[in-house]
Amino acid sequence: MSIVKKNIAKGDQQTPLKSQSTTTRGRRYSLATIITSVFISIVFLFMAAMALSYYRLISFQSILSHITEDSFPEITYSRNLHNQANELLYLSSHLTNAGNNATLRIAKQSIESKLQNIQKQIVEKDSNIYLTTQLNVISNEFSNLYDLVKQKLYIQGQIKSGQNSMYTLHEKMFRLSQKTRKELNNNLASTAWTLAYSEIITFASKALIKLRLQEVRQTFTQVSNKIESLNKGLISLPKSSQTSAESLTFQLQQLLLENDGLLLLKIEQLRISGRVIGRGNFVKNLVDDFSRVAEFKSYQINESVIEETNSIIARAATEAKLMSLASILVLLVLFFVIDFIKRRFVERVVTLNKNVITRLKGGDIKLDASGNDEISDIAEAFNFFAEKIEEQKQVLHALSLTDGLTGLPNRRALDQRLSNDLQTATRNKWPVVVMLMDIDFFKKYNDTYGHLAGDDCLKEVSAALLRCKKRSTDFVARYGGEEFLFILPNTKPDGVQKVADNILAEVNALNILHQGSSVASHVTLSIGIAGFHHQDNLDSTQLLENADRALYKAKNSGKNCICYYQ
Ligand code: GH3
Ligand code: MG
Ligand code: MG
Repeated sequence: MSIVKKNIAKGDQQTPLKSQSTTTRGRRYSLATIITSVFISIVFLFMAAMALSYYRLISFQSILSHITEDSFPEITYSRNLHNQANELLYLSSHLTNAGNNATLRIAKQSIESKLQNIQKQIVEKDSNIYLTTQLNVISNEFSNLYDLVKQKLYIQGQIKSGQNSMYTLHEKMFRLSQKTRKELNNNLASTAWTLAYSEIITFASKALIKLRLQEVRQTFTQVSNKIESLNKGLISLPKSSQTSAESLTFQLQQLLLENDGLLLLKIEQLRISGRVIGRGNFVKNLVDDFSRVAEFKSYQINESVIEETNSIIARAATEAKLMSLASILVLLVLFFVIDFIKRRFVERVVTLNKNVITRLKGGDIKLDASGNDEISDIAEAFNFFAEKIEEQKQVLHALSLTDGLTGLPNRRALDQRLSNDLQTATRNKWPVVVMLMDIDFFKKYNDTYGHLAGDDCLKEVSAALLRCKKRSTDFVARYGGEEFLFILPNTKPDGVQKVADNILAEVNALNILHQGSSVASHVTLSIGIAGFHHQDNLDSTQLLENADRALYKAKNSGKNCICYYQ
């Protein structure tokens, strides 16, 4: 009993977590610290990925905005310049081929407004010096071309009026010829002059539609020669007509061969037309050049946009690969984290829970308290409390079978033991002997010395009985009050007698003064012995009744003696 009490006291003072120091359990990894670290790491990883993506997207955005804000307007602007230059080309043809002053004026105005437009755009957009200079040159050249075309039209006008004069002269000549013919009665002499005159006009008319300068020059020489012969032919005409004919010849000579004469005008017209074509081509080339520069610029920007776009596409592809790799990496990390959490916490908690349930159902499982964290603390604490409960259960069990006063097994323990011993004896076919002992005149003892003294007496007798228990298979218990019981399994009769004698001797030897006893001056006891044989078919109650009868007999036989049940 005292040993049990000592254990309880010890157990109450011990705490499981103190019992295992850091050195024996290894370094401590708190769950809170691990989970916090894991989540902080994940958040940090996530933020790093976000920052990286943001930085990458910003760089894409700057390239894209450069394309949309700078490159595309540049391309549009260059395209626009190119288109307007092409329109200028078209207008320059209009100017070059203008057939009258009205068309010429319209073409000039259109060209001027177009040039102003282009000029404005260049100034507004980039003030490109090359284009500005080029445009000024083009403008000057257009102005020169305009002057030339105008001059050409003026000469054309003069030629036209000259032609009319020529036809008037021809008519005059025709009338004079008719008159002369009448006067000469159709003499052929006048006809030669008339024909020659008509021939000159035909030559001149043909020359006026010629396009080659050389041919016109030849015509000029031919006409000079013809006019000379015409002058000579005047003599063949009648006198009355000679003056008129001479005047007509002179007028024709004036009209065709003088400095402002038709043929020289034609030569001048062809020369200016040539210059108009040449200058027109020159202007066209200039405009074409301008257009090509504008187009080339748009082409260049186009190229750079394509280059930038391609680089973006390549970078986007790289980004996509990087992102995929990063995602795989993050997934792997997450997988390992989840696996770590699963192994480190979840599985352990599940096992812990399973073992706790098994333990609560009565299974004899000790929880795994390996590691050094909160889960191992819980497991250890559970083991500690389970052990304590087990210990206390055993203590309670022991207490329920022990007599509080004497420390001997009580009646309950005795009943269990006797029943077990009888079963064992039946199985092994050996005898069992019980000895029921009762202190003599104990009531009187109490009355004489008081209850406390009675208790002390009971304790001393118990200790004496314990001393008489020599075999481990023997059993002694407090039967109740001042009665005790000895169980002696598989003991021969002389052995039983020996034990009984020894008990009487031991109790007598205690020499506890008992003035109320009429059998001795000290405390004595009486013993009733009954036996069990496996063939007897006795139960424990009957055996005890037999022992009680034997005890009754001993009491009646003067007490302080041994009696056997017969
Ligand atoms: P007998 O010689 O015939 O056995 O007479 P007795 O007086 O011993 O027997 P009885 O049955 O008349 O009295 C038993 C007494 O034992 C009565 C009771 O007060 C006392 N007793 C029983 N249990 C205890 C106990 O635990 N302590 C004390 N002090 N006395 C007890
Ligand atoms: Mg009694
Ligand atoms: Mg008694």
